[in-house]
Amino acid sequence: MKTAYEQLLKIYEEIQLLNSVSGVLYWDMNVKMPPAATEYRAKQFQYLSTKTHQLWIGKNMSSLIESCQKDESFDTIQKRNFELIKRSYDNRTIFPTELVGKIASQSNRTLEIWKVAKEKKDFQKVLPDLEKLFQLNVESAELLAEAKGMNDPYNALIDRNDNGFSVDSLSKLFDDAKSFLIPFVKKCQNSDVKIDRSFISRTVPREVQVKMVHELANFLHYDFSSSKANGRIDEVEHPLTIGCGKGDVRVTVKYHEDHVLSAFLAGAHECGHAIHGLQGKAEWFNQPIYRVSSPSFGESQSRILENMIASSEEFWTYYYPKFQKVTQGTFDDIDMNTFYSALNAVTPGFIRIQADEVTYILHIIIRFEIEREWFAGKITTKELPQVWNEKYREYLGVDVPNDSLGLMQDLHWYSQYYGYFHGYGIGDLISAQITNTMSKKLPGWRDDLLEGNFANIKQWLAENVHEKGGMCDGLELVEDITNEPLSTKYFTEYIEKKFSKIYN
Ligand SMILES: [Zn+2]
Repeated sequence: MKTAYEQLLKIYEEIQLLNSVSGVLYWDMNVKMPPAATEYRAKQFQYLSTKTHQLWIGKNMSSLIESCQKDESFDTIQKRNFELIKRSYDNRTIFPTELVGKIASQSNRTLEIWKVAKEKKDFQKVLPDLEKLFQLNVESAELLAEAKGMNDPYNALIDRNDNGFSVDSLSKLFDDAKSFLIPFVKKCQNSDVKIDRSFISRTVPREVQVKMVHELANFLHYDFSSSKANGRIDEVEHPLTIGCGKGDVRVTVKYHEDHVLSAFLAGAHECGHAIHGLQGKAEWFNQPIYRVSSPSFGESQSRILENMIASSEEFWTYYYPKFQKVTQGTFDDIDMNTFYSALNAVTPGFIRIQADEVTYILHIIIRFEIEREWFAGKITTKELPQVWNEKYREYLGVDVPNDSLGLMQDLHWYSQYYGYFHGYGIGDLISAQITNTMSKKLPGWRDDLLEGNFANIKQWLAENVHEKGGMCDGLELVEDITNEPLSTKYFTEYIEKKFSKIYN
């Protein structure tokens, strides 16, 4: 006879199985699905999410949870697994199955319409569906707030998505970052150093860029091609990493022939997510502790690879000749320092995923602030374009030319990711703080990069970060790894040091 805990984990395993099927379908929808399959795919998603939800809220689950609650024999791991299952259960039992299904199907519908609206630069086209999707999410956030005894539905959403964070703590971290960044960006712009970036837009054909991203993935030890591969690299409109089950974490990028760095950096970013996903403790795979539940923390792992590694001076000192070769001589007349400066140039713009390291968080702060006000009812869905464009003018000093390059650029709001954007900004703060710790514990990592060796860094991340999985929540995990609470200190120090060198 299995114990209540064992039975609980068995259900969790089944849920993970269903989630992995959703992952494969989601990958297919983004990479390969023919357009006419849209409606039926929405049904498939709805079916799977209803099944998953039923497993979560089923009678079986509630009685097992009750039994486990009385069990005092749990060790640390069992305790944490139970805590995570109980948390998900509590977060789910709040929502009626019908609402969950409605959100899933409206989300898939809105995402498909967003693609068309974005192409046509016509926000009005997606507005009615976005409004419906947002209202469904408000409804669920209100239910969540009520159940958690919180006043602010948006705060409840943040708490559910990123346990331990709150609207107040995020606002404080972002205000700190903002007060450093806005003047620092101006300082770089007013510097005598003028960085030529014109050569970045030299045409590099798609098939050449495919090879370039493959070579980078090889450098990062992301295996997408051997007989034991646990990854794939494909092209989608909006790059992302999709977990499809055990030994299967897939990366996607977007190739822009006139912007070679876009796919290169997205490749490093998504490989960061994939490596994080693949380097968990194997024996924990079917348990909740296998993966960290904090999107902020998750994002820090992609940003370490994208920024700390693939945008660093040491990396390019080693890698640039290889890059020149794989891009077939396109940059033969450009020396390493010129290329490195161009890659890191501070260029306030309106596209988040093309943003440099310095202005990136400002894009996130804009989204966080808008979401906060949107949920608080201070702005309406219809007003989003106007508010969006005003904030871009104020924080980044840029005029957004149209809504496709404005508030339709990211899929998140069109795909049920609310209370989630903050993670991208907090991820930068966490990545700087963890890298600072890595510099103390693995002082030779920059020399390793100079020699083209990523293995030690990857191993350090595995042992000190990835294998910790979800044993604690995001903020605690940062403190556990770095021995300090999360702050903006290491991020601002890092930015100041790196970019003051580039801008003298
Ligand atoms: Zn990411």
